[in-house]
Amino acid sequence: MSRREQRSGLGRFDVMPAPVVRAPARNPDGSVICPECGQAVTGSKGTPRIRDPDLDNRELGEQIDELLTYGWLCTRHEYDVVIPVECQGRDASNLQDGWIGVRLVFADDTVRWVPTPRRELQTGQADD
Ligand SMILES: [Zn+2]
Repeated sequence: MSRREQRSGLGRFDVMPAPVVRAPARNPDGSVICPECGQAVTGSKGTPRIRDPDLDNRELGEQIDELLTYGWLCTRHEYDVVIPVECQGRDASNLQDGWIGVRLVFADDTVRWVPTPRRELQTGQADD
C-alpha cells in the first residue's frame, strides 16, 4: 500500500497531510516538472521540509520529525509534493559541502538518497 492510499482516508481537516515525496521529472530541455501534475516547478527550488519522513533508517527516523531537504515543491495538490534534488550517496558528493545524504522511502516505495544539511543531523547519529 502506498503512502497516499494510507492517508486518503484520514478525513481530518485540522491536519495538513504530510507531503508526498517524489523523484523529479524533467522536460526535454532539462527543466523540472512535478511528476504528478506536470507543472513546471524549476522556480520553486529551495529547502522544503518533509514532515514525518519515512526514513529507511528506523533509528534515525525516530529522531527526526521533520527532514529539511533541498529541492522543488509543487503546491497544486491537497498535499505538498516535495521533489528532492538528486543526491549521490551519503556524502552528497554532487552538492556543496554541508549537505549529506539520508535514505528516504519515496511515494513509489523506492528508497533514494535525499540531501539534508549535516547540522540537522547532529543528534548522535552513530553510523556517520
Ligand atoms: Zn504537482
